Amino acid sequence: MNYRELGNTGLLVSAVGFGGVPINRVEPDRATATLLRAFELGINFVDSARSYGDSEDKIGLALQQYEASDDIIVATKARALDADTMRTKIDRSLAALQTDHIHIYQLHDLREGQLEKVTAPGGALQALDRARQQGKISHIGLSGHHPEALIPAMRSGLFETVQMPLNVIDYPLFADNIPIATELSLGIVVMKPLCGGLMESPERALRFVLSHPVSTAIPGMDCPEQVEENAAVGCEQIQLSDKDRSKLKDEARRLGKDFCRRCGYCQRCPAGLRIPDIFRFERYHSSYFMQDWAKEQYAGLESDVTSCIECGECEKMCPYDLPVREKLQQAHQHLRG
Ligand code: SF4
Ligand code: SF4
Repeated sequence: MNYRELGNTGLLVSAVGFGGVPINRVEPDRATATLLRAFELGINFVDSARSYGDSEDKIGLALQQYEASDDIIVATKARALDADTMRTKIDRSLAALQTDHIHIYQLHDLREGQLEKVTAPGGALQALDRARQQGKISHIGLSGHHPEALIPAMRSGLFETVQMPLNVIDYPLFADNIPIATELSLGIVVMKPLCGGLMESPERALRFVLSHPVSTAIPGMDCPEQVEENAAVGCEQIQLSDKDRSKLKDEARRLGKDFCRRCGYCQRCPAGLRIPDIFRFERYHSSYFMQDWAKEQYAGLESDVTSCIECGECEKMCPYDLPVREKLQQAHQHLRG
């Protein structure tokens, strides 16, 4: 495994890190096996969030079973604007991870106009600073999906790491963030390097990301086989051939921009809709000529789109501003039997 500096934190992180969203969908034994395989293969950076279901708990369990757990760098994050909420969430993360110390705690999904609130007296930054003074966390980072929110925050000097999406689709939007973060010596953590699992070749997609001066790319993983595939790229001397570049361009054209990245932020649908899965079935139906399989999977769901109560919560949570309800209706038209 290759290791890269995480900005000025003094930490060396594996080029391929572990995105902690998908383990919240699998049984604890499978999550543990996946995490332990990652640690064995040299992946030493694990990212989670308060909002990723029981992801932090599962990471905590796996760390208890890993002898060299002191070598693993844990990053997690919480959405909060005020200090009280952030303080409570930090303590919950510590309890879930079964630890008294977290390496990196990030302000999760910062949006435009929120920087003033989090940095004001009584804002979330106050709780993060206090937690750092108390030794509960070592470094403060931020994550976000909108360059217009990230750039002023990066320039504020209040954060040591920045987590942002980078892949062949999102690259034009975030291209300017990389030199800014590099100039400010921020550690760059790349989320969604595989576009939510939709890229034809995960290896090629990872190579694309790692060919940039980023610290680590954190594909979400939920089985040891995925870990092995992704970790292998982290061991390479990264080179992108002309053929790779041309295939990536073709894929970007095929995927467009208006698609679900499977971030899972909309997973608390009150009607129990598994929204990212429905969009994945739709993608298989419309782009991969797997109509029968996609319809079968959709029919097997406990709740289909007809259960939607139109509350709009999914659209408030979607960092890509997707018209989720409209797209669900389209998917339903294609996938119903
Ligand atoms: S609008 Fe429908 S799909 Fe979206 S969260 Fe509400 S019930 Fe779920
Ligand atoms: S619909 Fe939006 S919030 Fe939900 S998983 Fe897809 S990209 Fe994420």
